Amino acid sequence: MRILIANDDGYLAPGLSALVRACQGLGSIDVIAPEQNASGTSNALTLTRPLSVFEARGDHVKGFRVVNGTPSDCVHVALTGLLDYRPDLVLSGINNGANMGDDTLYSGTVAAAMEGYLFGIPAIAFSQAEKGWGELDAAAAAARAVIEQVLAQAPLGGAPWLLNVNIPNRADAATLPRRVTRLGRRHASEPVIRQTSPRGEAIYWIGPAGDAREGGEGTDFHAVADGCVSITPLQVDLTDHAAAAGWAARLAGRGA
Ligand code: MN
Repeated sequence: MRILIANDDGYLAPGLSALVRACQGLGSIDVIAPEQNASGTSNALTLTRPLSVFEARGDHVKGFRVVNGTPSDCVHVALTGLLDYRPDLVLSGINNGANMGDDTLYSGTVAAAMEGYLFGIPAIAFSQAEKGWGELDAAAAAARAVIEQVLAQAPLGGAPWLLNVNIPNRADAATLPRRVTRLGRRHASEPVIRQTSPRGEAIYWIGPAGDAREGGEGTDFHAVADGCVSITPLQVDLTDHAAAAGWAARLAGRGA
């Protein structure tokens, strides 16, 4: 098995090297990750300048390849020319903090995995529920356990799939129950934070994500709060299928 691993927190993030260590023995591994923290960049591709790739040095990142771009850039470049083979599996993470509910739309961690999925390759995004890397080794062991269980039940080479995994920051993460969930919903983000720059200009910080608004039974929020590893199968089609017929009726005969 050949595995491509990326992330969105940047190639120096502890979550990336922990995931790489946890995957040792599963197959050959290539790591291609962003040079800088690119959290919240969603599926962005860099189209206005060329991308550079260099090999990382240092104990925990030796052999990692680094792209001065986004998470999607990393996987896109890997799959369209940098790698001379097609990976069997794309992994992303482990992210510093949850990617649940509406987070998945903004997440670079999910996007890196999604880029693999868009190219027809099974992919899994991993996140720790809380920021700060608490119990990271346990999260990595949990990720390994999820990979092994998933591959035993969903062999590679068929139709691709995309899983979004959130892991509680607990020492027993690897032995927690795993629950298949749907995405919950968050409240709208906290208000923007306005400050004044040293030059007297108004500047704005995007506020933190809102709390769970729909975190009922069956959701990712509920599973993690309940001490489970949350596994949400994702799809890419944003079409509101339930609303399509209603819109067709409303707009009938009003075409240009
Ligand atoms: Mn991140």
